[in-house]
Amino acid sequence: MKAVLDHIGIAVRDLPAAIGFYRDALGLEIEAQEEVESQHVRAHFVPVGGPKLELLEATAPESAIARYIDKRGPGLHHITLRVDDIRAALSQLKARGVRLVDEEPRSGAEGALVAFIHPSAAAGVLVELKQLVVQQADHKSVRPAQREPPRVTVGDLELISVSDGFIRLDGGSMFGIVPKPLWEKKAPADDRNRITLAMRPLIVRGTRTMIIDAGLGGKDDAKFQDIYGVDRSWSLDDTLAEAGLSREDIDIVVATHLHFDHAGGFTMRDASGRIRPAFPRAQYVVRRGEWEDATHPHARNRGSYIADNYVPLADAGVLLFVDEDQTIMPGVRVQRTGGHTMHHQMVTIESNGKRAAFVADMMPTTAHVPDAWIMGYDLYPVDTLTAKQRFIAEAVERGTLVFFEHDPNIAAGYIRDVNGKRTVQPLS
Ligand SMILES: [Zn+2]
Ligand SMILES: [Zn+2]
Repeated sequence: MKAVLDHIGIAVRDLPAAIGFYRDALGLEIEAQEEVESQHVRAHFVPVGGPKLELLEATAPESAIARYIDKRGPGLHHITLRVDDIRAALSQLKARGVRLVDEEPRSGAEGALVAFIHPSAAAGVLVELKQLVVQQADHKSVRPAQREPPRVTVGDLELISVSDGFIRLDGGSMFGIVPKPLWEKKAPADDRNRITLAMRPLIVRGTRTMIIDAGLGGKDDAKFQDIYGVDRSWSLDDTLAEAGLSREDIDIVVATHLHFDHAGGFTMRDASGRIRPAFPRAQYVVRRGEWEDATHPHARNRGSYIADNYVPLADAGVLLFVDEDQTIMPGVRVQRTGGHTMHHQMVTIESNGKRAAFVADMMPTTAHVPDAWIMGYDLYPVDTLTAKQRFIAEAVERGTLVFFEHDPNIAAGYIRDVNGKRTVQPLS
């Protein structure tokens, strides 16, 4: 088996003293801290060329690090070897009778899979195996297997992240000026240079039941499905049912904007072939400027708008236009971001001091959190930058739970910013 030294873990009792040595005396940089809540550990990575040092600080007395320090004092705690296939590595070790702490891999920091080998089998050193889980170009392997949609409460409101499956879009277009060698580490491209994106509408249940965006819907022909690699095997109807809901339960539909991957699910073809609203009881909230743009497309945005997704709503008389930022139901507001389209809006959710935000295409995936990672599709990218910077500063400060509509792996998370380095702590 091939194994590469990934990092060396050091159990720390006195963090300021450790930082005093590694950062101040040695002059090394200390990266953003990462909290592994399940382990009651806070990790501070120190880059030193190839492998890193990891300063481990206990955050609770029952932490394995606290117990280790009680028993042996602070110091070298473990080494971590990176392997390509952690399950194969574990079964190879098991076959040789090596004593393992973890027979099965579990999830560690940054979504990696990890497993520990008992020190008695490794010359007295606790050895951690680690396999990086790269987002697969074949999205089938990253689709959550038959599980309930993520639910979270924000004050008096309940939020349920649902799904309308996956599409594939050109990786270059998704990352604008970011060079491919950088973005393909975050989002591997397939043989047509496309990356996999999820479509995750959000249900908000409060005084009424709302859905924000509705994915692609099911009206597209085979050519379209081939171009965009459409996979709706995990569709909105499936996930609504998993959440115990149906289309009839929806009172309000909010459109962040009218691009086909957000508004396609607003309408459906009935048995007679007629296109009608897909949520039979709902009123549809649309920004008036976005409606104007969608119904008068130009060469630069025409590919993103399909009239069948929204014109039938006007015919059915279910549209509710908004002209400015406003509350749609208690705790839920639409707020214009511009950038992606002139009237693109996000949705902010606030109840009892808790906050969440559905940012749609202002920041479609967690890879779009750094400043320069802005879609080439955006009509006004500098406006996206301004809106994003303002939003992130506030989200970091106020602990806003951020929903990433297109991220294939992470439905929502908290953005952390330590000395300008932003990370996303996924909602677990
Ligand atoms: Zn869009
Ligand atoms: Zn989109």
